[in-house]
Amino acid sequence: MLADRVKFMEESATLAAAAKAKALAAEGRDILSLTLGEPDFTTPAVISQAAKAAIDSGKASFYTASSGLPALKEAVQDYMVDYYGYEIQASQILVTTGAKLALAAFFLAVLNPGDQVLIPTPYWVSYVEQVKLAQGEPVFVEGAEAKNFKINADQLEELWNPRVKVLLLNNPSNPTGNLYTREELEALAAWAIDRNVLVLADDIYGHLVYNQAEFVSISSLSPEIRNQTVVITGVSKTYAMTGWRIGFAIGPQEIIQAMAQLTSQLTSNPTTVAQYAAIAALKNGHKAAEKMRLAFEERLNTIYPLLNQVPGFRADKPQGAFYLFPNVEEAMKRKGFTEVAAFTNDILEQVGLALVAGDAFGSPHHVRMSYATDLDTLKEAILRLENYMNM
Ligand code: PMP
Ligand code: GLU
Repeated sequence: MLADRVKFMEESATLAAAAKAKALAAEGRDILSLTLGEPDFTTPAVISQAAKAAIDSGKASFYTASSGLPALKEAVQDYMVDYYGYEIQASQILVTTGAKLALAAFFLAVLNPGDQVLIPTPYWVSYVEQVKLAQGEPVFVEGAEAKNFKINADQLEELWNPRVKVLLLNNPSNPTGNLYTREELEALAAWAIDRNVLVLADDIYGHLVYNQAEFVSISSLSPEIRNQTVVITGVSKTYAMTGWRIGFAIGPQEIIQAMAQLTSQLTSNPTTVAQYAAIAALKNGHKAAEKMRLAFEERLNTIYPLLNQVPGFRADKPQGAFYLFPNVEEAMKRKGFTEVAAFTNDILEQVGLALVAGDAFGSPHHVRMSYATDLDTLKEAILRLENYMNM
């Protein structure tokens, strides 16, 4: 009955792990969940008040331009000048129902069957499935753990062939939290320009960097690289707005307009009230966002050394996003597991701690732990892990 495209598609592993944890908790089990990459804060009041005002005034009742409210695009234009250091036209912006849809629209807009997308490993769970949905071919570029999982231009050159259309770069990365330096990005950009490969820059965690680390977007390096880069970002992570579902694609007009055509047929427009909320976030949300960033930083700095004391768990300190991605090969061996999914399942069963198995991110020897939750929960989670390893 079903089409092949869904038969070969996998459900989002992060969402599935979170749903399983929730279901067990609903049954009355004592479950701690470090599964989802979702800030535990509620949306700052300056943002939700603007949304309420949009509802009360009646403005939120109607469709908007399908590519997004002009006032929101203006706010994005200002944001790009402030944070990326370059100007863009309104026609270079598409507002979408979450950054996830912006990514999907990009793949659907640029890939012909068999076109290849270079995806550094480990990767966020949705990229591969979305590329396949667009009939593209994911090609993995191995991020070596010894090099903080970062890739380099030599690796890209080895994989290059005329079917390579896109290089995907998620910086800072979900799940590793690694962050590329300006010099590293310059080398990748030079390669992409030389080989005329499009760059998909998923910058959604760009504001979430810690301990004086500096985020640089590959798109900000030069007008040349900008001309072949689509930046994906959004309000979900920075402003604690995951439920509002607003994302942005910013890039060359030809690509953005093709993506806009697609989303006009799929969603008409992103929810109007959420667009008004996003305007308030971009204009007035910085103070609140900075407070949350500092909270994530404190959590990272507290939890990271504790995690490294858990027998068999080993991680480098991430610089951004809100995930730890420890190597658990040794821990799995000690507990007699060869499959990481069975290992995380056992942790959940034995001590009520939900993590995401690394295989969904292309890493069979790692687990992902989100630290976008309060410090008490995080400390308790480490205790449970220690108990588990000592059982
Ligand atoms: N990219 C990455 C790397 C993510 O982790 C997420 C989180 N869901 C997204 C894109 C999509 O974000 P959203 O759809 O909530 O805007
Ligand atoms: N990006 C978040 C995560 O990785 C949200 C879940 C999802 O969209 O897959 O946990």
